Amino acid sequence: MSKFLVSKYKNLEAYTPGEQPKKGEFLKLNTNENPFPPHERIKDEIIKYTNTLQLYSDNDCKKLTSTFANYYNIGEKNIIFANGSDEILAFCFLAFCDNSVCFPEISYGFYKVFAELFSVKGEKIPLDENFKVKPTDYFNKEKTIVIANPNAPTGIILSLNEIKGILENNKENVVIIDEAYIDFGGESAIQLTKEYNNLVVSGTFSKSRNLAGARLGYAVASEELISDLNKIKYSFNPYNVNTLTQVAGVVSLEENDYFIKCCNSIIENREKFVKDLDDLGFETLPSKANFVFTKSNKISGENLYNKLREEKIIVRHFTQSEISDYLRISIGTKENMDRLVSVIKKIIEVN
Ligand SMILES: *Cc1c(COP(=O)(O)O)cnc(C)c1O
Repeated sequence: MSKFLVSKYKNLEAYTPGEQPKKGEFLKLNTNENPFPPHERIKDEIIKYTNTLQLYSDNDCKKLTSTFANYYNIGEKNIIFANGSDEILAFCFLAFCDNSVCFPEISYGFYKVFAELFSVKGEKIPLDENFKVKPTDYFNKEKTIVIANPNAPTGIILSLNEIKGILENNKENVVIIDEAYIDFGGESAIQLTKEYNNLVVSGTFSKSRNLAGARLGYAVASEELISDLNKIKYSFNPYNVNTLTQVAGVVSLEENDYFIKCCNSIIENREKFVKDLDDLGFETLPSKANFVFTKSNKISGENLYNKLREEKIIVRHFTQSEISDYLRISIGTKENMDRLVSVIKKIIEVN
C-alpha cells in the first residue's frame, strides 16, 4: 500500500477471485465457469466486427437489447447491460443503497466488498440451520435487499413464491435478485419485474452462456429503475460493453438449442456427481447451480482441497468457520467429474 491511497480505503478488503492457473495445467473446478466452449458461430460473427474497432461500441447495445427483449418477452426499456454482472451489482449499490443494505451472511463475497467500497452499512443475515435463506428474515427490511438465487456457495434456491413473499413485504425498498445461476434448473424472477416496480433481477452470460471471458451482465427491472441504473452507467463508463462482446451476446441468444444442450448436460452431470458423492459418504446441499457444496465424513475440507490440488484438480475452499468443512465444486464435463470422483476415492481410501 502506498501512502497516497485514500484513507477510507486503507482497510478495504478486496474480493479474492478464484485462482486462474495457466491453461491445461489443472482441472479447473473452482470458479463455476462453463466447461463447454462458446458456440462456434460466435467466432465467425466477431471477426466481421474487428474492422469496426476504431469506433466506440454502441453505448445503448441496441441489437443485444432487442434480441434479449424478444428472448425474454420484456420491453427494451426494462434492460441494461454491463461489463459482467459484477458491474451491474456495483451500479445497483451506487443507485439504490443509501445508508444500508442487507444480504445473506453466507453468499457471494462481492456484496460485502461493494458495501464497504461504497460506504454503505451491510447487514448480514444468517442462513437457517439447513443453510437456507429464510424468506421471513427479509420481510419489512426498510433497506435494499440483495439475494443470490440460487445462493452461492450453497446452490440452494428459493421458489418464485418465496421471492414473491419477500417482494410483498418490501414495497418501499428495492429488492435485487442475483440470478447468476438461474439457468441450471431454477425459475427466473424476470417476469415478476412486470408486477413489482421495486424488483431488479441481475444475471450474467458468464456461467450458463459460456462467456465468462467476454464479460457480459444484465439487469431487468421497471423502466424507472433501469433509468436510474443508466444514470449511474452514463456517469461512470458509457461504453462499458465492448463491440465484440455485444456480438457474442447476440449470437448466444440466437443459438438457443446449444444453450439448452449445455445447461442440460451440466444438470445431468451434477445429478450424477451428487449420487457418486453420496456413495462416498459425502453430505451435499441440494443444488440448482452449476456447482455443489459438499462435505466428507472422512476428511476435512481443507485437507481434501490440498490433496486434490496435489492431483492437479482445483476446487474452492472457504476458510469462514461455518463452512470450512465444505468444498464448492464446479460441474464440468462428464469426463471431468468421473476423473474427480476416482481421485476422491483414492484420497479417501488412503486417508
Ligand atoms: C459469478 C457471479 C457473479 C458475477 O458474474 P460476472 O462474471 O461478473 O457476470 C455475480 N453473482 C454471483 C452470485 C456469481 O456467482
